[in-house]
Formats: sequence, structure tokens, C-alpha cells
Amino acid sequence: MALDMKYFEEMEAKIPRGEVRTRFAPSPTGYMHVGNLRTALYTWLIARNAGGTFILRIEDTDQGRLVEGATDVIYKTLAECRLNHDEGPDVGGPVAPYIQSERRDTYGKYARLLVEKGCAYYCFCEKSEGEEETFDKTEDPCRSLSLAEAQARVDAGEPYVIRQRIPDEGTTTFHDAVFGDITVENKTLDDQVLIKRDGLPTYNFANVIDDHLMGITHVVRGSEYLSSAPKYNLLYEGFGWEVPTYVHCSPVMRDAHNKMSKRHGDPSYEDLKEQGFLTDAILNYVALLGWSPRGDIAEQEVFSLEELAKAFDLEGMSKSPAIFDIEKLTHFNALYLRAMSPEDFAQAAGPYIRKAVKHEYLSVSEIAALLQARCEKLTDIPEKVSFFQELPVYDAELFTNKKSKTNPEVSKAMLEAAISMLEELPDWTQDAIHDGLVALAERLEVKNATLMWPVRIAAAGQAVTPGGAVEICRILGRDETLRRLRLGLNML
Ligand code: GLU
Repeated sequence: MALDMKYFEEMEAKIPRGEVRTRFAPSPTGYMHVGNLRTALYTWLIARNAGGTFILRIEDTDQGRLVEGATDVIYKTLAECRLNHDEGPDVGGPVAPYIQSERRDTYGKYARLLVEKGCAYYCFCEKSEGEEETFDKTEDPCRSLSLAEAQARVDAGEPYVIRQRIPDEGTTTFHDAVFGDITVENKTLDDQVLIKRDGLPTYNFANVIDDHLMGITHVVRGSEYLSSAPKYNLLYEGFGWEVPTYVHCSPVMRDAHNKMSKRHGDPSYEDLKEQGFLTDAILNYVALLGWSPRGDIAEQEVFSLEELAKAFDLEGMSKSPAIFDIEKLTHFNALYLRAMSPEDFAQAAGPYIRKAVKHEYLSVSEIAALLQARCEKLTDIPEKVSFFQELPVYDAELFTNKKSKTNPEVSKAMLEAAISMLEELPDWTQDAIHDGLVALAERLEVKNATLMWPVRIAAAGQAVTPGGAVEICRILGRDETLRRLRLGLNML
């Protein structure tokens, strides 16, 4: 059966040209690991930096790995991270469809074209996965079948795969924007399967076809694919297509020896969110895992997405593996929490405060204001503020503090005086409570701390609190403050 060349011409004619086009091509696994998120980010940044187009393509040809709802995770993550795509399954585009399983007819046609060009062949041998890895390609009997012989067997209904025909001799060189020129001996490359027995393409084949047909100019992916790149080059060559710019990203590691892996308990993007990290902080940190700003901004650490899009360049990418450091991410998270407007912070912190503080009269925004400078992760909040809801059971020893010059006796005197003063205070405001307590300390001829310490301990029932005595009393309100101060007094 002759090939329908018109089909290929039409496909060629559809390819957008003359602009930077990048694609994020995840397989729907059900979660977004940190390395994948970084690939998505870099891919998006390269497109945005060049004013180009960012495409989402779903690579679901490995039917065995399909997970229900997994594409939703991809959409949700990209949307949350504001890595908006210009073309993709949900928004369409000039080279649709953008889901590989919906493009399955295409791959067979191109594989057939490659057979015709002598760069691929039908193979009727049955090989186990192990044999596939150890088989010497030159010994495959199907390799030397004439096309007519092979075609006759195909037409007779014999099951087959289509394999790439790698030259026996010589070397193949490819260029990577990060790793430079890499040359390999062709004899080390296997005649990889392009089309499987079930008619579906392998990842390695579908990828090349789609990248070409979608007009992708920069292929950004994990460095685990680096060893396949020579075979991709030979495919491009076989078709007579231009090879895109490869941008392989060094791996994200858990430690010096191990890649991060969900299976080994390393957090995915969703896990990090659940652990209380902000999307913007995650993105900022992840951007710097494998890329560093240069020139005037070499020292800059905090980058908005927009700033990253402006600054990102391939030259700043690193070949060395990056180690994911949760402490460093925590540091970024704290910076982002502090930089929020008080309103935004209160909104983000609100649900976490309300997890611990249920009394409606205790104001979320007032408690949030105490926390903003003292919080590294939103998930730290409930534990820090639960004393507002309920006075913890505490030890009277807390009233003794050397630095503040307090002991049980002093604390007793301080609480008695503070209670009488606070009972009479005309207004329950920050200033009124503050000025009242300071004036009282002066009258009693003690350091402010000597008075504030026992008041804060009695009000909070714990030594470490966000905010000082004045703020805590104000938020608790007069009745609750006096009730707690009297309870403290009774302990002394
Ligand atoms: N589907 C592949 C993955 O999820 C994509 C690799 C590529 O971008 O070429 O790892």
C-alpha cells in the first residue's frame, strides 16, 4: 500500500513557525513531583522570556500507568502556579489534539514513512523485556528482510513491532543547551521499538513526532532522557527534520546520592502545599534549584514569577544536580509570609487559626497580626495560638524568670496590682493596656519586664507566645484576661 504523501504535507503545513514554542509534556501519574514542577516552570519561563508559546501536552500512551483523575492534578497545579498554557487539551490550538492517546493514528503513519526511508523496520520476533535489553541488534533476522517480504508478513496478519534502524557503525553527536556536545558510538545504541505490538507508539517515538508536528523549538525535560537523545537525533535526521534545542535539566536530589522520589517518601508539590508552604515560595525556591541569576541580579534571592520570566536564561542553568533542602524552602516561605499585606496574610492564616481558636470573639485578623512576623509555615499556626482558645494547664514555676527578676512572691504582687489596675481601665485598647501597665511598673518601681512577665504567663499559660502581654490581653478581652490572671494568682 503506497503512502499517502498528501497527509504528511498537510501535517507539515499546519506547523506554526517563526516563534519560540515550548511544551510541558507530563505523563498523568496523579501527582506533581518537585523535578516535574521545575521542568514545567523552566519550560514556561523559556516561552515567556521569548514572548513565545507554552503548550501543554498529555503523554498518556503508557496505558499501564494511567491513574484516574491524574490529568486534573496537572491542570490544577499549573493553574495554581499560574503557569498558564496557550495551547493544550482544554484550550485547543492549531496543532490539536494535545493528548497523545488521541493522536495514535498519526504515529503509525510516521513509523511507516520511516520504514520506507530505510530508518526503521518491521520486526516479528517476540522478545521479553530482558531480551530487549541484551539483544545484539545486528543479529535480529528481521533487520535484513526486504521491505516486500516484511510487508507480505504484515499483510498476512503476523504481529509485529516497528524498530528504529540505528547505523551499525560511526557515532552520533547531539547538542544540549545545558550539557553541551555529547557524542556516542552508534553500536552502543539499541534498535529501540517505535511502535509496539498493540499499535501504540513508545514514549521515545511519540515524543519526537509530536515535538516536530507541534513546532516545538525547545525541548525541556529531565536529564534522565539525555541518554535517549542520540536516538532522537537519528529519528529527526531520518525524517529530514530540524532538531529542536534540547534543554535537559539536572536532577533534583534528596541528598548527594539519591534523586527525590515520591515512592521513597519525598514530598510532591501537593505534599508541600499540605505542609503549609505557599505556592509562590515553592516556585521561587524551585526556580533556583538548577538555575542562578547572573549579572546585576546575581545576588537577588526573591523573584516573582514575572521577574523570573524576565531574568531566566539558558546560560544560568546548571549541569550539577541540585539538592532539595526543606530548610531553605522554609526560609523562602517565611520571607513570602512576611511580605504579604496584613489582609492577605490574615486570609491565608485564617483557616489555620480557626483550627485551634473557635471562639468567635477572638479575632482572626488580630491574632494573624501577631503571627505574621513569627511564622515560617501556615501549618505551624494552630499549635502556636491554641492558648487563646483554652488556657493550658501549666506549672507555677513558669512565674519564675531570672531575666525579668520574677519569682512566685514577686509574681503574686505583680498580678494583684495588675488585676486591680486592669479592672478599672476605662478603655480596652492596645494603648490603654500598654500605658496602664507601664505606669503601674513605674509606680511599683520595678522594670517593665517584672510586671509583664507574670501577666503574660497568667494570660497565656505558656512561656513562648506570639506577641507580648499587652497584645495577648487585648485580644483575649477584659473578662477573659481577668479570669486568667485571677487563676494565675490562685496558683501563687
Ligand atoms: N512524559 C515524559 C515525562 O513525564 C515527558 C518527557 C519529556 O518532556 O520529553 O517524564
